[in-house]
Amino acid sequence: MNIPQSSYPRIVIIGGGFGGIALAKKLSNQDAQVVLLDKHNYHNFQPLLYQVSTGGLEPDSIAYPIRKVLQGYPNFYFRLANVKEVDTDKKNIKTNIGEMSYDYLVVATGSETNYFGNKGIENNGMAMKTIPQALNLRSLILENFEQALLTDNLHEREALMNFVIVGGGPTGVELAGALAEIKKGILPKDYPDLDTRRAQINLIQSGDRILPAMSEQASEKAEGFLEKLGVNVWKNIRVTNYDGKVVTTDCDTVFEAATLVWAAGVQAVGVKGLDAENLLARGNRLKVDQFNQVQGVDGVFALGDVAQMETEAYPKGHPMMAQPAIQQGRNLGENLVRLLDGEPMKPFKYRDKGSMATVGRNKAVVDMPNIRYQGVFAWFVWMFVHLYFLIGFRNRVVVFINWVYNYIRFDREARLIIRPFKKQNRVERDTLKQD
Ligand SMILES: Cc1cc2nc3c(=O)[nH]c(=O)nc-3n(C[C@H](O)[C@H](O)[C@H](O)COP(=O)(O)OP(=O)(O)OC[C@H]3O[C@@H](n4cnc5c(N)ncnc54)[C@H](O)[C@@H]3O)c2cc1C
Repeated sequence: MNIPQSSYPRIVIIGGGFGGIALAKKLSNQDAQVVLLDKHNYHNFQPLLYQVSTGGLEPDSIAYPIRKVLQGYPNFYFRLANVKEVDTDKKNIKTNIGEMSYDYLVVATGSETNYFGNKGIENNGMAMKTIPQALNLRSLILENFEQALLTDNLHEREALMNFVIVGGGPTGVELAGALAEIKKGILPKDYPDLDTRRAQINLIQSGDRILPAMSEQASEKAEGFLEKLGVNVWKNIRVTNYDGKVVTTDCDTVFEAATLVWAAGVQAVGVKGLDAENLLARGNRLKVDQFNQVQGVDGVFALGDVAQMETEAYPKGHPMMAQPAIQQGRNLGENLVRLLDGEPMKPFKYRDKGSMATVGRNKAVVDMPNIRYQGVFAWFVWMFVHLYFLIGFRNRVVVFINWVYNYIRFDREARLIIRPFKKQNRVERDTLKQD
């Protein structure tokens, strides 16, 4: 892999997401050789993926080259590599570009869509975890309207304009809100010869409220916002299958829809060699102690979505969100320095800064530890926080200009079918599975 031997201990990080990058930054300028491996050469700012899917932002503005984040750091190496297997006895890693040894290993591989074994949904539904997937969804949404315009079969036309989003967490809520805004503000102008009022956006939640991880106040308000935008919110319904045309549920309700977006489950991205049953918790997460050390495996740590750290305050592990990943990355960075200096490590303590979701223009909900608010102010806070955490000055400027432009013009100009999505294209779907 063309990485020189060094007298410094080698710390290998798998994954340049929120956690991996926060950790790598902490390890810069330390007496260690740091190697970061990722199967993409960019960091993906997942919270804004739904805006790519709905033409609000170009994909490049939410991605950032990993090499640039860590430019100029001495003893730092990045390799574009897909990690295939870890041998924890020999302290060795196998990747698609070769093998390498490590002294300390940090797994920060994040999470992927969990279909809970439902092949119908997996094969026919759409996911939104990666940039290629967000682009596929963008193409499919637009292709559906182009097709709806051409067909004289009313039944087919309605199915093409019927969107089913499964999962009432922030991703489902944000996507549903964005689609509703497109229906209201853009479709009538783009397709004056199509009755786009008949387009339906359905958000399906198996529980009795949307945004279940937030306060009841936030759930109620968000539901009200969605209904105002014309989204059909279905609660206490479980989707059981999707064959590409019909969505079946555990009650009598069925939906004929050309698009189903699955936002109802995630699971950790595992690594072969660290997949023994005793190492794993719910959702495939690696059990770690309060120092992010994988329990019982010498020199191996895990953080972020892939790590399950059970504490008194978080008996089921920390939420799979950016903040726990970033904070664990920073804490582990400091701990690894302490470990190299022969000092005791400090346990991780999560500082909950709150959570938020946006539903649309001037409509967001924010839960902070001591205060909750909704509406216009929440929406501005949501925008500010996302701009702040977006990596790269250029990205911040581009996203800010896009948002101002979209706000003033009621527009989303990235509604482009650059790479057509063929629903039955198995090759493309299989490629996506590797993402
Ligand atoms: C649509 C969507 C919206 C979200 N919105 C929010 C939000 O509003 N707020 C919030 O806090 N959180 C949000 N999240 C969750 C947040 O993005 C994750 O919790 C966060 O990214 C976890 O960080 P991480 O470092 O653990 O993993 P990630 O950021 O996912 O990074 C994992 C990295 O590992 C790499 N990788 C994986 N496997 C391998 C391998 N075998 N070899 C090499 N590299 C590998 C991947 O390419 C990736 O770069 C959202 C997630 C999604 C999908």
